[in-house]
Amino acid sequence: MAFESTRWVWMNGRCIPWEQATVHVSAHGLHYGSGVFEGIRCYETVDGPAVFRLDAHLDRLYASAAAYRMQIPFSKEELTEAVCETIARNGFTDCYVRPICYRGSSSLGLHPRNCPVEAVILTWPWGKYLGEESLEKGVRITVSPWRKFHSQMMPTAAKGCGQYLNSILAVQDAIERGFDEALLLNADGSIAEGSGENIFIVRDGVLITNGPEDSILLGVTRDCVLQFARDLGWKVETRSLSLNCLLESDEAFFTGTAAEVVPVCEVDGQQIGSGKRGPCTRVIQETFSRAASGRDSRHRAWLHPMAKSVIST
Ligand code: PMP
Repeated sequence: MAFESTRWVWMNGRCIPWEQATVHVSAHGLHYGSGVFEGIRCYETVDGPAVFRLDAHLDRLYASAAAYRMQIPFSKEELTEAVCETIARNGFTDCYVRPICYRGSSSLGLHPRNCPVEAVILTWPWGKYLGEESLEKGVRITVSPWRKFHSQMMPTAAKGCGQYLNSILAVQDAIERGFDEALLLNADGSIAEGSGENIFIVRDGVLITNGPEDSILLGVTRDCVLQFARDLGWKVETRSLSLNCLLESDEAFFTGTAAEVVPVCEVDGQQIGSGKRGPCTRVIQETFSRAASGRDSRHRAWLHPMAKSVIST
């Protein structure tokens, strides 16, 4: 259903019909998760559709690939054009964008030698990841029995396909137990992140989030929120967060491209702050929405207007 309106997929250099965008069962990436990906959003803005923080997402894609010694066979400029072409061909103005680069078919030894690096871009309309009502109502989360893997086990700053088995275990468990999302602690017992989101808390007027030493993915939305808070003149701290810090916070929220900025109202049945979306969370949500829709002149550079690209449909 989600993909119903998607007609074109960009694959290895050209747009092809959805039905033809297939992968062989012997692909290395299918067996071992040897691939890297991104999650990006295109928003309808006051100046037409624009891809939000495309530059930062593509930089992270190349950094993730480098962490796995994968050479993406396209330049950043080519992928920038390809993202815009895929969105335009499908006729979307507001959609999710999923570039993925994976090891294709050649051998199934663990060392992916000779397996070609394939590059694909999917686009589809995707509502708010944690539900349309999540932005206002917030979400109920649970501390996962699964820990986030330590950065000495896998490159946590990379968005590697196989790494997401960790997130899948956590979110399946959370949903089965009736929660909206999982919160993973790291190997040290501090808070890491949601299965697909970073976390922030507000305590006594200070905005606090954790950092790379806590085994988190360095989210692009997290970076936006840190910049907003600085623009607003708020006090900001980046440090490890214990579970107690979260439970005793005045407000907490998740950030992510798919989820956007979502209040966390309850952790394992314990209310956070007022149990409702807090005032700081609301300001950050509104600031995010202004930036993503082009209504914030300060952050215009974060928008890659589709019109900037030469699109041959
Ligand atoms: N952590 C994890 C594990 C994620 O999958 C995501 C989503 N990419 C995030 C954090 C948030 O990252 P971003 O804001 O770049 O989407």
